Amino acid sequence: MSQKLGACAYFVFMYCPHWIWWALGIPWRLVRMTGVLKYCPWYRQRRYVYLIFHLPNENDEPIASRIARGVATLLNKLDLNVAWEISGTYLTELRTFGFACGPKLLFNPWHRWFESHGVFSPSKAINVYIVNTLGSKRGCALPRTQYVLLRHDASSKTLFHELGHHADLMHRRNPSNLMNPRRRTSPWILTGYQRRMFQSAHFLM
Ligand SMILES: [Zn+2]
Repeated sequence: MSQKLGACAYFVFMYCPHWIWWALGIPWRLVRMTGVLKYCPWYRQRRYVYLIFHLPNENDEPIASRIARGVATLLNKLDLNVAWEISGTYLTELRTFGFACGPKLLFNPWHRWFESHGVFSPSKAINVYIVNTLGSKRGCALPRTQYVLLRHDASSKTLFHELGHHADLMHRRNPSNLMNPRRRTSPWILTGYQRRMFQSAHFLM
C-alpha cells in the first residue's frame, strides 16, 4: 500500500511538472516547426537522438544493436542522426516486468523504477528498456517520460513508432502510416506534419 502511495506521490510531484513545461513550450515548438530558424545564424538546429539501452543481461546486446542500427536508418530519412550506447549495468529486474502498457503504468511503482534507473547524461537521452513481456504489445512510450519499453522481439520500426509518441504524435488510422497502432505495412509513410513534429521534438540534441 505504501508503495502505491509513493507511486502516486511520484506521479504528482515528478511527472506532472513535465506537462507544465510542455504547455509553456508550445509557442516555441510552433516556431521551430515552421523551419524558419534555419535562417538564423545564432540558432543551432538540433539533429541528434541519443538512445541508451538497458538490458536484462549481456545476451540481449545483439538485440539492442540490431534495433539501434535499424532505427538509425529510419531516422536518417528525416535528416536526424542517432547516437546510442548500451548501459554497462545489466538490470535483471527487467526479466520480471510483465505489466501491460497504458496510463495505469504511471501510478505503478515500476514507473518510478524506470525513471530512477535511467541515465540522464546527456540530459535529453531516451532510455530504452528491453523487457521480456509487455502484455500484448511490443513497445510502450508514455508521453513526457524519458523512457521507452521494448519487448525483446520488437523491431526498429516499433522503436521508431514509440519515439513518435515522445515527439507528441498520436495514432493514425492509415495502415501504411508509421503511427498506426497495429498494421504497419511497408513502405511506411509519415505526413509532412508528422515529420516536422519529429524534427522539433523535445528530445533532440
Ligand atoms: Zn502507439
